[in-house]
Amino acid sequence: MSQREWIEKDFYKELGVSADASQDEIKKAYRKLARDNHPDARPGDNRAEERFKAVSEAHAVLSDPAKRREYDETRKLFAGGGFGRGGGFQPGAGGGFSQNFDIGDIFGTGAAGAGDGGLGDLLGGLFNRGGGPRGAASRPRRGADVETETTLGFREAAQGVTVPLRMTSPAPCTTCHGSGAKPGTSPRTCPNCNGAGVVSRNQGAFGFSEPCDECRGTGSLIDDPCVDCRGTGVQNRTRTITVRIPPGVGDGQRIRLAGQGEAGLRGAPSGDLFVTVHVSQDKVFGRNGDDLTLVLPVSYAELVLGTTVSVPTLDGRVGVKVPPGTADGRILRVRGRGVPKRSGGAGDLLVTVKVAVPPKLDDNAVQALQRYQEAEKTSGFDPRAGWAGA
Ligand SMILES: [Zn+2]
Ligand SMILES: [Zn+2]
Repeated sequence: MSQREWIEKDFYKELGVSADASQDEIKKAYRKLARDNHPDARPGDNRAEERFKAVSEAHAVLSDPAKRREYDETRKLFAGGGFGRGGGFQPGAGGGFSQNFDIGDIFGTGAAGAGDGGLGDLLGGLFNRGGGPRGAASRPRRGADVETETTLGFREAAQGVTVPLRMTSPAPCTTCHGSGAKPGTSPRTCPNCNGAGVVSRNQGAFGFSEPCDECRGTGSLIDDPCVDCRGTGVQNRTRTITVRIPPGVGDGQRIRLAGQGEAGLRGAPSGDLFVTVHVSQDKVFGRNGDDLTLVLPVSYAELVLGTTVSVPTLDGRVGVKVPPGTADGRILRVRGRGVPKRSGGAGDLLVTVKVAVPPKLDDNAVQALQRYQEAEKTSGFDPRAGWAGA
């Protein structure tokens, strides 16, 4: 990306955040926009795709504190849009430097006719940060991060699973291996900028740098472009990658897979892939952190007399002892039979007992229950003893 683009593009506006937004706010805004405009979510919607690219680009700069600082500085310096467009940089003419900027400082002692060694050097230094003939503008651009989503079954998420993810995204061209040049040839250094990607121009006393027109800021020229990628070094490819989801991942969690994102231009490193995991509900199990929860239906008699019930876990069944006199709604804990923890071991299985009331009984059972009710009274049990002031 060239400095000119930086000056023309408002990444903060793109993400809908303020210029002093925290890294967290930037990340949040980006995730939402990337999700809403993701090509997989809105296939064929070109505007969404453009937007997706734009927010990815904005995020790539603003999420990197060093790049963000450079971006902020560049824009501050050129606030007012004095750069490049019309007569170049015009100090004091309603743009350029802020009011407090003492222009004498840059020109040093010999303010008049400073020419070389003056403003040009200052800007040159800014633009070539990173040093050498191939400065910041020509450094190959790392591929964008890619966001995608997947939905896992409850048990898969709890136990960990390997899933194939199908994604359409730019990848290094297989024909030219990302160089952009036809196989057997290679890009040559741009003679106009000597590979720097920027050129200096002098306007009277002021010199300034702007992206090289010849190579469009890349620093190299391709005489014989690869036909398969038209010289970009990148092809859109649908690929299926196999992603290992660790055990215990929760609904809405985001997993980072380094280097699995978009290919960088002309052999630059790839971005990262972020997979947001959705976990579907289970008929039996629920989750509370690392603990697995379930509701165990029991009869009144089972609670009173006690019993042992076989209940499912993520890994086979386990016998749960319901002690005599267990109250309805009590939670029984089975240690170590919950969700595997990243740190090793597992959470607990929490079994909530819940009385199932028969909607209908046969005469025999009804009579037995009536006899029981009498016997219960005789034994002195009052369900509402001490209740509501009674
Ligand atoms: Zn190619
Ligand atoms: Zn050039």
